[in-house]
Amino acid sequence: MNEQTLVLIKPDGVKRNLIGDIIKRFEERGLKVSKLVMLTADEPTVREHYQLDNRDYLIHLGHVDITGWSEEKIEEKYQKSVKIVKDLQKFLLSGKIIKMILEGPGAVSLARKITGKTDPSLSPRGTIRGDFGEDSFDKANAEGRAVYNLVHASGTLEEADREIQLWFPTDSDI
Ligand code: UDP
Ligand code: MG
Repeated sequence: MNEQTLVLIKPDGVKRNLIGDIIKRFEERGLKVSKLVMLTADEPTVREHYQLDNRDYLIHLGHVDITGWSEEKIEEKYQKSVKIVKDLQKFLLSGKIIKMILEGPGAVSLARKITGKTDPSLSPRGTIRGDFGEDSFDKANAEGRAVYNLVHASGTLEEADREIQLWFPTDSDI
């Protein structure tokens, strides 16, 4: 089925001149760029994108499986995630980004596969984060900041729908 997903090239990807390399990775796997804009993001959009009021999202941030965790450990993880997401919001506002809609069969999961894991140092060769990423959770945690991993790609169909609406509202002509 033809699907759509939302991809952002974060400020580190733009600053490091990786726009072309990143888009190529998606195109060569058959995904079509259906909309693309370079912009400086605004605060309300970024706040809506990385939701500080979504406790469930924050508890699972980094795709962590919390099965069997104690209430205390979950609360600790939640507090850490709040800090990370605040930093991430600032980071996304810190420079130009690219927003794009990619289209194709299984676009959501395919774009995730091409992007790689959240931690670039654990991301396999052949993925964008694995090949171009220079950061890791360890480094980022030590410096008390979000990990720089070049790209955002929607994680699920629902996330993709929500994020496409957010970054490309239907009444907009771009
Ligand atoms: N993030 C981080 N440290 C963590 C978990 C997440 O810095 O321990 C940042 C990272 O930049 C990531 C973003 O938060 O891309 C959103 O987290 P998510 O779990 O949605 O990862 P993604 O879907 O981007 O792989
Ligand atoms: Mg995500």
